[in-house]
Amino acid sequence: MKKYVYMFSEGNEMMRDTLGGKGANLASMVNLGLPVPQGFTVTTQACNAYYDSGKVIDDDIKSQIEDCLERLEKLSGKELGGTDNPLLVSVRSGAKFSMPGMMDTILNLGLNDVTVEIIAEKAGNKRFAYDSYRRFIQMYSDVVCEVDKEKFEHILTTLKNSKGYESDLDVTAEDFEKELIPAYKDLFKAEMGMDFPQDAKVQLMGSILAVFRSWNNDRAMIYRNLNNIPHDLGTAVNVQQMVFGNMGDSSGTGVLFTRNAANGDNHIYGEYLINAQGEDVVAGIRTPQKIDRLEEDMPEIYAQLVKIVKGLETHYRDMQDIEFTVEEGTLYILQTRNGKRTGSAALKIAVDLVHEGLINKHTALTRLEAEQISQLLHPNFTKEALASATSIVEGLPASPGAGCGKAYLSADKVHEMKLAGEKVLLVRHETSPEDIQGMVSCEGILTSTGGMTSHAAVVARGMGKCCIVGAKALSIDYAAGTFTIDGVTYPEGTEMSVDGTTGKAYMGTLAVEESELTGDFAELMSWADEIKQLAVRANADSPKDAEAAIKFGAEGIGLCRTEHMFFEGDRIEYVRQMILADTLEERIEALDELYKFQVEDFKGIYRAMVGLPVTVRLLDPPLHEFLPHTDEEYLAVAEKLGKTLEEVKLKGATLHEANPMLGHRGSRLAVTYPEIYNMQVRAIIDAAIDVSRELGIDIIPEIMIPLIGTEAEIVFVKGNVVEAIEAAKRVKDSTIGYKIGTMIEIPRAALTADAIAKHAEFFSFGTNDLTQMTYGYSRDDIGSFLPDYLSTGILPVDPFVSIDQSGVGQLIEMAAAKGRSVKPKIKLGICGEHGGDPESIKFCHKVGLSYVSCSPYRVLIARLAAAQAAAEEIILEHATDSVLVSDK
Ligand code: PEP
Ligand code: MG
Repeated sequence: MKKYVYMFSEGNEMMRDTLGGKGANLASMVNLGLPVPQGFTVTTQACNAYYDSGKVIDDDIKSQIEDCLERLEKLSGKELGGTDNPLLVSVRSGAKFSMPGMMDTILNLGLNDVTVEIIAEKAGNKRFAYDSYRRFIQMYSDVVCEVDKEKFEHILTTLKNSKGYESDLDVTAEDFEKELIPAYKDLFKAEMGMDFPQDAKVQLMGSILAVFRSWNNDRAMIYRNLNNIPHDLGTAVNVQQMVFGNMGDSSGTGVLFTRNAANGDNHIYGEYLINAQGEDVVAGIRTPQKIDRLEEDMPEIYAQLVKIVKGLETHYRDMQDIEFTVEEGTLYILQTRNGKRTGSAALKIAVDLVHEGLINKHTALTRLEAEQISQLLHPNFTKEALASATSIVEGLPASPGAGCGKAYLSADKVHEMKLAGEKVLLVRHETSPEDIQGMVSCEGILTSTGGMTSHAAVVARGMGKCCIVGAKALSIDYAAGTFTIDGVTYPEGTEMSVDGTTGKAYMGTLAVEESELTGDFAELMSWADEIKQLAVRANADSPKDAEAAIKFGAEGIGLCRTEHMFFEGDRIEYVRQMILADTLEERIEALDELYKFQVEDFKGIYRAMVGLPVTVRLLDPPLHEFLPHTDEEYLAVAEKLGKTLEEVKLKGATLHEANPMLGHRGSRLAVTYPEIYNMQVRAIIDAAIDVSRELGIDIIPEIMIPLIGTEAEIVFVKGNVVEAIEAAKRVKDSTIGYKIGTMIEIPRAALTADAIAKHAEFFSFGTNDLTQMTYGYSRDDIGSFLPDYLSTGILPVDPFVSIDQSGVGQLIEMAAAKGRSVKPKIKLGICGEHGGDPESIKFCHKVGLSYVSCSPYRVLIARLAAAQAAAEEIILEHATDSVLVSDK
């Protein structure tokens, strides 16, 4: 019989697939002998079985749940729904990968009209018992029965207003018992047409199924899409004995990080509330106390807590995010997990843990998501801008960075304005999981309530988005669409600047600058460069791009798209003369002008790259891309060519193609007009000779022919190119070396790569075109159907962003193997956009390519991803001692 339910004591931390992250960690904490409330975990397989059988839970799973419940009852000496010593439980989701706040949770389950009285009596605290009951009715109704929780909040607010109460804490036991709970139950009955369920076992089964369902709610799906978490993992459900932080002043609850999640400082960082339940801390409704204060409030508990949490950090060898509760002077640990952190915290923690001997360099490299490294480049406001600006409101610096934009008060509005092309800030009392889309779309977040572990803070840090929380002087009127600071009211759409590093916000837009890449960053990247096997080059078309690429550590240029040089200044006029010319002479006249520009550009690039390899691609796009758009533009060309407007327009019309991406472009241009490539190679070689002489180094240009599909095609084009190169060398009396290679971007080239390799010294996979032509999806038109393909799951990810490993990837593997069968040492690279995508880079590592080439601003990400691919391989090989200090 398959096991679908595990007592905590039966699991262990390796069982994340089955028990989810939370369940596996609870099991491991129980096994470490920590004070953890007991319970059991319903597995992810049970969740998947529920979906597989059409959203029903089968009897076997049900009976395993009942069995574990009995065991929990024995362990605790309490009974769920019992009238003697009632057991209360929490029911929480917990997937393999943490998805904070995305799925549902139910607390205080087991309360009903009878057990509430018994609990009240046992606890000697009636208010606590009835408060717990009304919270349970609200949560159960919301999560299990989908009754809008705002309706319950409305009843509570109305009561508070009618009695003149300021806070929830003013509501009395009597109020809960006599007014609120009856009103809540009436609301439930009105909405559901039945009484609120009193049978605790019915409550339990209903809640477990509701958590299964929440795996597929909208926000969980968005979160998984954003974080590339597969949709078929399912969630586990943890049923755990409740402990209470709201039993008076010797109770409390808190959340902490064992290190600072915003900047990585090695200092326990967190918040707690006396006399409260967990959701009060994270919901941002009451602003909690800093954890350091607990040392004064409850010194013994604080000492015990510090010992346990540091022990957990050492055990897991990573910064932990821990929830704890103190119930009448007894400490319980409810949950531990690896804490979410900003890119800069991830970096500092990884490097510190290596220095502290807890992890090795390979593991450290895997502790940052490659994309996070770009957060380290997060902009800051310039010193000058800050010196002359006065902040108008201040809160907690929850997530570093600088963001400017128009302030909007709802996630929907933020998203709408972002789509309309605006830069926007999200300004709210607090955020909740429903705001996820707005949080993605904005430049920064500002909230008036909440602490460093509030939803806004945690999620913003995960996204690397700058965020200020708890800006108390800010008040918001959602209905009026305004916000007020220091008595001044501003409308939505007001421009602001938010500094998540200092917690200060400003009116207007301040100037920003990039940050420096030194210290821990340089150390981690040096580890990355030691281990990675793939070289990382950049796609750069100008000396400026080449300089940026070098700054980020590029080891060469993998793709210089020469056509990008054609648009600058008045060059486009010569390009137009070239393509609208009727005779070879006219064309050569224009090409001679273009030669002068190209040669200077290449010199600039060679100088910037000081001897590193530079791959220059010959002209690729269809000529019509350069055509004039207006009559004035046509007239200018006509005058230069000594023709009439009509004549040049007619010529332009002949260049129109029905399907230009599959038309007269790439090497096909060179078959019709060999003089174009001849001019380009002359510029490439002349510039290389000049800069070699100037700098006293050997520059060996790599000349790349695009869009090759057949062997005969490369033989033809290469023949002309070599002739032009040799002629240029003769003129300058040089023996300079060079390499000629081709892009592999047409499926036929991949299929016949062995024949093509005979004539190429290198292949560079143009995965943009290769994806386009393998799928038959137009690169330029995919936007019209991609969203549907993603939302229906037909495509798991955009194949133009992350390589389709089973299709396009197969062509790459095949071409690599065929190429190597003819030339074992042939150099293989990739220069499509995928060269900067971490998953695709890992694939390139696996295939054994020599380099990836990506935009200069993704070079850092690519270096780290390449190192991670190598590190993961090493860690797998030494699975047992992977995190140990093996390389120190
Ligand atoms: C490619 O097709 O992947 C490529 C790099 O070339 P381009 O994007 O210029 O077509
Ligand atoms: Mg291409």
